[in-house]
Amino acid sequence: MSVERNMPNSPGSVQNRLTPRTPAVPGCSFANVRDRLQRAGLRPTRQRIAIGWLLFGKGDRHVTAEKLFDEARAGKVHMSLATVYNTLHQFSEASLLREIALYGSTVWYDTNTGPHFHFYLADSDELIDIPQELVSALPLPPAPEGMEILGVDMIVRVRSSAPV
Ligand SMILES: [Zn+2]
Repeated sequence: MSVERNMPNSPGSVQNRLTPRTPAVPGCSFANVRDRLQRAGLRPTRQRIAIGWLLFGKGDRHVTAEKLFDEARAGKVHMSLATVYNTLHQFSEASLLREIALYGSTVWYDTNTGPHFHFYLADSDELIDIPQELVSALPLPPAPEGMEILGVDMIVRVRSSAPV
């Protein structure tokens, strides 16, 4: 009777609505992203999980806040650009991402936090990794007296060499 129709308000149903659907494919589930955030000391809020899912679900990638914002919108994930900016910054503070500053004010975020270098493709506005074997033989200048090398950043900007 009317009791039956009120079932959606029972605690069990509310719980069901709040439980995220776990994808059938193992690998990048809600639980994986949540664990990753927790291990990094970040509270797994819904927005962080949504952004983590976009970032870590597709292998190593390089994104800007604007690109990720567009991706979130296309995927019907609703959040402001400011939230995307803040979340990416928090992720990089927690060492989940590496920040790469290009010329101007554009900051790229890299899910591969290990040491490696980049090509910037000017035609398509993309950042890609330079294969390690191409750079391992590069000579480095010695650090100044009394100092040690903390890290080396290199971005090689390239464009299509095809005749126009
Ligand atoms: Zn990279």
